[in-house]
Amino acid sequence: MEFDVIVIGAGPGGYPAAIKAAQLGAKTAIIEREWLGGTCLNCGCIPTKTLIAGAEVYQQILHAERFGISVGKPTIDYPAMKTRKDGVVKELQNGIGALLKAHSVTLFEGTGSFRDANTVAVQSNDGSTVELTGKSIVIATGSTSTVPGFIPKYERIVESRAFLELEKLPESLLVLGGGYIGCELACMAAGLGVKVTIVELLADVLMLLDKDVRQVVKKKMKAELGMTLLTGAAMENIQANDSGVTATAGDQSLEADMLLVAIGRSPVTDGLNLAAAGVAVSDRGYIEVDELSRTNVPHIYCIGDVSGRMQLAHAATSQAIYAVEHAVKGDEKIEEVVIPGVIFTAPEVALVGLTETEAKQAGLKTNVGKFYFRGLGKAMASNETEGFAKIIADASTDRIIGAQCAGPHATDLISEMVIAVREELTAEELGNTVHAHPTFAEVWMEAAHALHKSCIHAPPAR
Ligand code: FAD
Repeated sequence: MEFDVIVIGAGPGGYPAAIKAAQLGAKTAIIEREWLGGTCLNCGCIPTKTLIAGAEVYQQILHAERFGISVGKPTIDYPAMKTRKDGVVKELQNGIGALLKAHSVTLFEGTGSFRDANTVAVQSNDGSTVELTGKSIVIATGSTSTVPGFIPKYERIVESRAFLELEKLPESLLVLGGGYIGCELACMAAGLGVKVTIVELLADVLMLLDKDVRQVVKKKMKAELGMTLLTGAAMENIQANDSGVTATAGDQSLEADMLLVAIGRSPVTDGLNLAAAGVAVSDRGYIEVDELSRTNVPHIYCIGDVSGRMQLAHAATSQAIYAVEHAVKGDEKIEEVVIPGVIFTAPEVALVGLTETEAKQAGLKTNVGKFYFRGLGKAMASNETEGFAKIIADASTDRIIGAQCAGPHATDLISEMVIAVREELTAEELGNTVHAHPTFAEVWMEAAHALHKSCIHAPPAR
C-alpha cells in the first residue's frame, strides 16, 4: 500500500502529525501498537490530571469550613475515582479515533518496523503483516519509564504507568525521584491521605525552577500535605516483601507500603528496526534530528519524546505540525522554541523562557518583578492566596525573557507569558495591558508593575 505520509505512533506527536498531513491533502497512514493517544492520554498527562482533580475536590471539602460550609468528614472511594479516570481516557481515545476517521487517515493496529528507508511493515497482534510504502515517514514512538536494574522487581515497586492502574492507594508511599512526575503523583497521593516520602538525589526537588518558586511548593507539600522530602540523598538498599518496601537514604531507614520509581524516561525504539532505514541514534538511544525534525535520512522525520527534546505533550504536537508542513509543503519554518513547562503539584507551578538562575548563568543583566497572589482580590475571594508570579526582563531592553508562577491556576495563567516571551513584549507593554478585575491573571500585570517599582497594590520597594 502506498502513502504520501506514514506516521509511526499515535501519541500527542503522532496523531496530530497524521491529521495535519491529511489536512494538507496527503494520503496518510498511522500505525499504533497499543492505544490511541499514547503515553499522554493513557498513562501520562490525562490520567494524572483526572486523579489530581479528584484529590483537589477532596482537599476543598476537607477545608470547606474556610468558606463557612460545614460538612461531615468525606470518604474516598478510590476505585470510583479510577473508574472516572478510565472513563475520561476512553472518551478522549474515541475522540481521536473519530478525528482520524473524519480526516480519512488510515489506521493500522500493530507494530511498525522499517524494511528499508521507504517501507514500513506493520505486524498486527493477530500475527499478520502488511507492508506500507511512504514518501515521508514520521517516527513518533515516544518514551517509557526508566527503571534501572538495581531496583528489585516486585509488585510493590511500580513506575508511573502501573501506579496509575492501582485499584487501591497504599497507606504509605516512597517516591524515588523529585522531578515533575514524582512530585505530581506524590502530591496527588498525599492529597488523598497517603503518607508520602520523596527521596531525591539532587540538592532539591523540581530543580528546573528557581529556588524561591520551589520554596512555595515545598512549603505546601510539607506543611499542608504532611510530606517528607529527603534531598541530596541516594535511595539505596531497596528491598521488598509481602509486608512492604524498605530502603535507606543517607543515614535514614525508610519503610512504606509501596515504592514509586520516577527517575526519568527512556526512548522507545524497540521493534522499529531503525538500522534497515539507516536512521542514526545518539549514545543515549534518542533519534537525532535537525531543527526541522529531520533525521539523518532527509524524508524520515522524528518528533516528540523519542527525539530527546523537551519531553512534553504540547512540544510533541508543535513539532508534529512543523515537521509535516515541511514534509508535505516544503515549508522551512524553524520549530517553536518557546515551550512552557507546567507542573500540577499543589500548588501548581509553571514556567516559560529563562529562569533567573539561567539568565544569570548566561551573563544577562535582568530586572525581576514579583507579585504575591495574596495581594489580589480574586485570590482572597477564592481563598487561594499562596504563591506568586515573577517576570524576568532583560535590563537593557525591558524585553520579557522568562516568567515563573507558583500558585492557583499557574498552569493556565502561564499562557499569557508564553505569548509575551514569544512576541518579545516588554514588561512596560505587559504592565500597560488592561487586565480584567478581579481575576488571577492580574498577577502578571502587577508583577510587570513591580518590575518597574510602580506597583499600585504593594507598598513602595525599600
Ligand atoms: P507517546 O505519547 O509516548 O506515544 C508514542 C506511541 O507510539 C505510543 O502509543 C506507543 O504505543 C506507540 N508506539 C511505540 N513504538 C511503536 C511501534 N514500533 N509501532 C507502532 N506504535 C508504536 N506532558 C505534558 O505536556 N503535560 C503533562 O502534564 C504531562 N504529564 C505526564 C505525566 C506522566 C505520569 C507521564 C509519564 C508523562 C507526562 N507527560 C506530560 C509527558 C507526555 O506524556 C509525553 O511528553 C508525550 O506523551 C510524548 O508524546 P509522543 O507522541 O512523543 O509519545
